[in-house]
Amino acid sequence: MNVADSRRLASSLEKMGFEPTAAPDNADVIVLNTCVVRQSAEDKAVGRLSSLRPLKDKNPNLVINLMGCLIGVRGNSKIQQKFPWVDVVSPPSDPEPLLRLLSERHGKTAAANQTETQNALLDGDLMLPQHEQGKLVSAYIPIVYGCSHACSYCIIPSKRGREHSRPYAEILEEAQSLVRQGVKELTLLGQIVDRYGLDLPEKPTLAMLLRDLNEMEGLKRIRFLTSHPNWMTDDLLDAVAELPKVCPHIEVPIQAGDDEVLQAMRRGYTNQTYRDLVQRIRERIPGVSIATDIIVGFPGETEEQFEQTHKVLEDLRLDVAHLARYSPREGTTSARNLEDNVPAEEKMRRFRLLEDLQEEISAEINIRYLGETVSVLFEEQSRGRWRGRTPTNKLVFVESDQDLLGEERLVRITWTGPWSMIGEPA
Ligand code: SAH
Repeated sequence: MNVADSRRLASSLEKMGFEPTAAPDNADVIVLNTCVVRQSAEDKAVGRLSSLRPLKDKNPNLVINLMGCLIGVRGNSKIQQKFPWVDVVSPPSDPEPLLRLLSERHGKTAAANQTETQNALLDGDLMLPQHEQGKLVSAYIPIVYGCSHACSYCIIPSKRGREHSRPYAEILEEAQSLVRQGVKELTLLGQIVDRYGLDLPEKPTLAMLLRDLNEMEGLKRIRFLTSHPNWMTDDLLDAVAELPKVCPHIEVPIQAGDDEVLQAMRRGYTNQTYRDLVQRIRERIPGVSIATDIIVGFPGETEEQFEQTHKVLEDLRLDVAHLARYSPREGTTSARNLEDNVPAEEKMRRFRLLEDLQEEISAEINIRYLGETVSVLFEEQSRGRWRGRTPTNKLVFVESDQDLLGEERLVRITWTGPWSMIGEPA
């Protein structure tokens, strides 16, 4: 979500005449777009923010914009007192405060400021930053902002605000514009992306959007994330199965395997319903890959409860598991009401156990690709190798002298590991 927000802001800044620089020392404007989903992310953001201070001391004209979840939709009154070198703050997904300030500093009248800001915002939606035009292969499009689910551990609803879907036509227009600029793959984003449209008067659905995007000429692949187990309709799964451009890959977090823990997390489903869902996904979408998220060490999680998580991961044999250790977040129900009583070493032990298990499972799934021919969309060249993904989202490296950027090619897999594969043009 932040990558998408930053890209849009960069385009808006270009519209106002700015251009990118790799060296912070040379910058007139620095935007720090922040995440606070776990304490570690917040610490990293604050660390970076502190490291910007000397630049501001050297160049008082430098504009520092602090954006994203460190600010949140309700604002953060303490932050500018604490970090007085910040010039302007912006909530997540909102470039406007910075654009207004820059326009003001250029001495625009109120009316001219309004026009300049609006034009820049429009450009942010429709244009890629210049250095990405014709080069960016895979782009993100937020389709649902905010979240209203309120999982007890999660800070996102309070920082990104209530769930609201973007208008259907606006998304298609943005998609069309990105494809015209060379983008080959779109990933539609939402905290619960399957809930797209429920808050709109015409009640469009994610499945409808996938069907329309599938018709878009020049677009090669479509993905979406993140799904919630309770909102994955058969209509959506069928759309994924039927539409050739929609990749057979589902990101659907379980978070925990124990029913009591799931209830305390306020996830709204049980171990069994998640297992049934995985079965339903696999029945409806042949060859599908599934990724999940898991939090270990939720308050009060016992060894037996953790074993339920281990067991479900062992049984379901999903392609990927994104693992996290519980981090109490200010203002969330779990932080207010439950003691963070699983010791750090114990969280780490549980984390490692799942990590080892998943490494084994991913390696075992990937080895089935050995000698197979798969379609790979190449996204970039790094250290002499081309890097791309299969429709099932497996990372593939290929050595080739050809320019493969944005090409979708058949590749024969010659080596596999748990996290990536190597292949050669078939
Ligand atoms: N809305 C999406 C993404 C949420 S953030 C979803 O529900 O999946 C991405 C992941 O961060 C979550 O899936 C969860 O596993 C993890 N996460 C969120 N809050 C956390 C917390 N307080 N401590 C540890 N991990 C957390």
